[in-house]
Amino acid sequence: MSVVAKRVLVTGGAGFLGSHLCERLVAQGDDVLCVDNYFTGRKDNVAGLLGTPHFEALRHDITHPLFVEVDEIYNLACPASPIHYQFDPVQTTKTSVIGAINMLGLAKRLKAKILQASTSEVYGDPGVHPQPESYRGNVNPIGPRGCYDEGKRCAETLFFDYFRQHQMRIRVARIFNTYGPRMHPNDGRVVSNFIVQALQGAPITLYGDGSQTRAFCFVDDLIDGFVRLMAAPDHLTGPINLGNPQETSVAELAELVIALTGSRSVITRRPLPVDDPVQRCPDITLATKLLGWRPTTPLKDGLTRTIAYFDQLLSQRREDAEAGAPIAV
Ligand code: NAD
Ligand code: UDP
Ligand code: UDP
Repeated sequence: MSVVAKRVLVTGGAGFLGSHLCERLVAQGDDVLCVDNYFTGRKDNVAGLLGTPHFEALRHDITHPLFVEVDEIYNLACPASPIHYQFDPVQTTKTSVIGAINMLGLAKRLKAKILQASTSEVYGDPGVHPQPESYRGNVNPIGPRGCYDEGKRCAETLFFDYFRQHQMRIRVARIFNTYGPRMHPNDGRVVSNFIVQALQGAPITLYGDGSQTRAFCFVDDLIDGFVRLMAAPDHLTGPINLGNPQETSVAELAELVIALTGSRSVITRRPLPVDDPVQRCPDITLATKLLGWRPTTPLKDGLTRTIAYFDQLLSQRREDAEAGAPIAV
């Protein structure tokens, strides 16, 4: 008997996390529709999937209605790095809020399961440490990070209102800093910045004194958490933290990247951005208990794989430049 493949929509599917998720879903036999407006995503990220029978890509902005037929939706569309989400903050809020309404409307019509890629930014500059899901956060609604933080908070509100009002099958994952191959080389996030700077022998830009902390999760671990959450019983709506609970200061990260690349880059100080959270680390008790999930990739291993990716990307770009070929941004 032939089994009909599950049809899965991934919004933001050509982005960093989205492209890894599309790959994982295709590999497990799903029929994947990637929807992206290519604001921060790249066709290169899904080039390996194009032409395979169970993958399809559609250029579309989720702030506009979308009429397709699917069984599950992962809603990842939204720029994630501070420089990208602050580039057009009004569009960022629209993507989170109007985009969520459209994707929830789509899921409602189809009776589809829908998972929201929320963020640790809903906790703002946290006053509780590590952050459990019950912590309600400390967000500045009118600061430069507000468009992202409040947009994501409102999207969570919408998910839970559709859940209560329309008995929908929702999942909300609060993702903490995730890194890995296919991060955008110019997106300004700390891991990609430090690696690209180290590989180019450029100064490593440490914002503030580098004592602020983050907890870095390797992309493969995160995707595993996504898939488990989607497959979990319907009463497990979340919100649920997904991240690596190993806390690292940004200064330690800089030293580690320099050591792993063998770079001669020096560290240079830059002002700390406004509202930059001082300390961030997930409490993943719930994910471990309810999903049997915890990250398994040590920071050093994940960084080594990410460095190899950027090394190859930068070499390719040098070769293309020498050959006079156009360079993708
Ligand atoms: P990314 O910028 O690489 O991917 C976002 C994708 O969404 C891009 O492909 C972009 O072109 C697309 N997009 C943006 N606006 C859109 C719109 N209006 N319509 C259609 N497509 C649109 O970022 P990422 O790191 O892959 O993040 C994916 C999701 O995970 C985001 O929702 C982000 O908020 C969330 N998240 C990521 C992290 C992380 O550390 N990577 C942490 C917390 C939350
Ligand atoms: N929507 C969509 N695709 C669908 C169904 C709905 O994009 O297949 C959009 C629709 O345009 C609407 C939004 O989702 O703006 C919310 O839909 P819902 O049914 O919740 O609300 P209503 O249509 O009643 O405003
Ligand atoms: N950061 C840094 N140098 C950089 C980029 C970022 O020191 O070149 C710091 C930034 O100030 C923050 C941390 O690294 O404290 C993580 O920044 P990122 O933009 O990656 O993510 P987020 O602040 O959203 O967690």
